[in-house]
Amino acid sequence: MDMGQARELLVEYGRRMSADRLSIGTSGNLSVYDPDSGRMAITPSGLDYVSTTPEDIVVTDLDAHVVEGTRKPSSEWALHTLFYRSHPEARAVVHTHSMYCTTLAVLGTPLRAVHYAIAAAGTAEVPCAPYRLFGTEELAKEAVRACGKGRAVLLGNHGLVTWGEDLAGAYKLACDLEFVAELQWRAMAVGAPRVLTEAEMDAAMLRFRTYGQQKDEA
Ligand code: 13P
Ligand code: ZN
Repeated sequence: MDMGQARELLVEYGRRMSADRLSIGTSGNLSVYDPDSGRMAITPSGLDYVSTTPEDIVVTDLDAHVVEGTRKPSSEWALHTLFYRSHPEARAVVHTHSMYCTTLAVLGTPLRAVHYAIAAAGTAEVPCAPYRLFGTEELAKEAVRACGKGRAVLLGNHGLVTWGEDLAGAYKLACDLEFVAELQWRAMAVGAPRVLTEAEMDAAMLRFRTYGQQKDEA
């Protein structure tokens, strides 16, 4: 993907993140990665999404060098780059402070299989990494470690991180997990939610492989 296209996409999804209330104010950040050039485009630090323009997006390599742009990159720059280094298929990373995921992260409770939609994360549970100061390598390391082979992780007392093969996928996963988190929280508020069994989740994951419009059928 060329970086001009990446800038436009990040602006569009940043606005969506605000409109969908996955982010309040300047919280959260988004990036896309192009393995051919080794460059990552990332949202700027502390700018609200509504007034962010494509020129505000910062292009860096994975070693903290700014290649294009005049803004300071997101303070979670290390978090994004570590996900790209650790998951070779990752092309986009989304970080939110969405209300229900963050509520569970405050409780230190993983997201459980209270609904089969969690299968989109690639695992039957989305773990919660221990709290670390925002914008630090320690936070990045704990997040990647806790995430393991999955595509999402809660950050203790902080928020959510998802990754995907494109920005649409990583963003959709953040939306799906916010739905699951809200269900889990609501169910926990009045009782003990039934969690799907391993066999039920395996079957749901298998079913998802052929769900929706397949590329060659569309
Ligand atoms: P930035 O504005 O620097 O991207 O930080 C927001 C955030 O969510 C920090 O964890
Ligand atoms: Zn954050």
